[in-house]
Amino acid sequence: MKKLLIAAGLLVATVACAEQPKPAASSFTSTSSKSASDADIKLYVLDCGRIEMENGMLFSDSYDYDGKPLKLVDSCYAIKHPKGVLVWDTGLSDGLVGKAEPVNPEGTPLFLSKSTTLTDELAKAGLSPAEVTHVGISHMHFDHSANAELFSNATLLVSQADYDYTFSKPTPFGFDPSTIDGFKADKINKLKGDHDVFGDGSVTILSMPGHTPGHQALKVVLADEGTVLLSGDLYHLRPNFEKRIVPRLQTNRADYIASFDRMERILKVTDAKLIIQHDKGDFESLPKAPEFLH
Ligand SMILES: [Zn+2]
Ligand SMILES: [Zn+2]
Repeated sequence: MKKLLIAAGLLVATVACAEQPKPAASSFTSTSSKSASDADIKLYVLDCGRIEMENGMLFSDSYDYDGKPLKLVDSCYAIKHPKGVLVWDTGLSDGLVGKAEPVNPEGTPLFLSKSTTLTDELAKAGLSPAEVTHVGISHMHFDHSANAELFSNATLLVSQADYDYTFSKPTPFGFDPSTIDGFKADKINKLKGDHDVFGDGSVTILSMPGHTPGHQALKVVLADEGTVLLSGDLYHLRPNFEKRIVPRLQTNRADYIASFDRMERILKVTDAKLIIQHDKGDFESLPKAPEFLH
């Protein structure tokens, strides 16, 4: 009966959204362990820091944020699947925790801060770094790949294109090869397209290049919430999704637009909810570990 009701609800939602899909993070429900079974896939939202700037010009190449201050969150995710645990993006460096003032990396307009370590965030979800079997990196910018070596016994899932770009010379802006050079070669799976992480279609890395040469997003199919898409940096802010704003911070504009097209079509076809990983409003609307989506 419950399944039928859900199906009916989905049908209504699909019809209502057929013309203009409005995937909004505010539609997520806060859930707890009481309503989930052990077999359910659980998606935990983790706090991985803050990024602030006086001038947000990096995040639009059409002058939307020129001269305007921006506040971004940095979020990470842990997906507990019956076959393993995937950490999706590893956030800003834990070295920021305990700093009295936000840190301004040389040559950037960014001010970085962080109040808890990734290990402490995982502990809120009842997980330790040793339990993590897979580390998925949306792209190799430092705010998504720092701390990756906490999981150097896990399998690193990174695109071949971002891997190659990370180790190219001179090192590109925003990249730091030292974040992953501790992984043994047989622990790195360099992806050349989409990747089904656990082999059952529930957790899929999607190739969405443009922001970086091998940028990726993540699709997770949950029992109650349905399909959820994690943006990586395809969008940094909700207006970038709504107005198809391309950031100055990109490596190929045509690829970026093609990835927008693909993402929008997937959202429509799967009736998915979109989480924009750097968007403060999205982050604040989501349940945080130990709560989870399922
Ligand atoms: Zn980025
Ligand atoms: Zn980012």
